[in-house]
Amino acid sequence: MLHPSDYCLINGNGYDAVPAALYRGRSNAVARAMAGADWLIRNKSDGRYVALAARGALRYLHTLPRAEPLATLWQDLQRSIQSSDELPPDHLFSLLDELGISGDSYASKTGLSWILEPTLLSYAGRDRYRRPLWLETQTAKLWLRMQHAAAKDQTALQAISGFRSHAYQAGIFARKIARGLTIQQILTVNAAPGFSEHHSGRALDISTPGLAAAEESFEHSQAFEWLTRHAADFGFRLSYPRDNIHGITYEPWHWYWQGTD
Ligand SMILES: [Zn+2]
Repeated sequence: MLHPSDYCLINGNGYDAVPAALYRGRSNAVARAMAGADWLIRNKSDGRYVALAARGALRYLHTLPRAEPLATLWQDLQRSIQSSDELPPDHLFSLLDELGISGDSYASKTGLSWILEPTLLSYAGRDRYRRPLWLETQTAKLWLRMQHAAAKDQTALQAISGFRSHAYQAGIFARKIARGLTIQQILTVNAAPGFSEHHSGRALDISTPGLAAAEESFEHSQAFEWLTRHAADFGFRLSYPRDNIHGITYEPWHWYWQGTD
């Protein structure tokens, strides 16, 4: 079993690897197989559990079409963290092509820029929904420190969402298109894949227990007032204040770690 101090998310182009101990099997058979495993390998576009690694041995979890030999997939993930801090954008370009979105015109219209995914993310505890929260390493450290400082002031900060991949964002679009929405309609509420600050692992959606997630009413909470006064001390800033230059809806819950001086 992996030691908790070794917990991380290894981020590849089509697949990622996460500590099996942090996740639940969706059937008894999968849960049993996961119990002794170190790593769980997932398909990034649909989140499907693909394979397990235990003490260096790899095995598939199901017998669905095998796009690639398992050893190749694992080597790709290892190479990904050894060769660079960020994934190359090639995969993102094909995702945008599939959706028929021109990255360049979207970028000039919104003033937003490409955001690449880190190849390695740190474990920052669990979010409101008990899901593992993954963040860029320094962001994870400062988020936990900030949450602790807020707690000392009797203010509960709760993470709603941290790192999200390009493939995950593209999946949101695919589901909305399937429900009959147009790309233009979706772009009014969701950033195009590749342009969300969540791809960097440095953005966090924050709420407080008892409040709905991602609602403007968060601005009236004690948690928001605390963040307004102290978040900058921990390197966090509000990305989309009211009437921001990007034309993005006011998001009092969305904070970005830009570092401290
Ligand atoms: Zn957000």
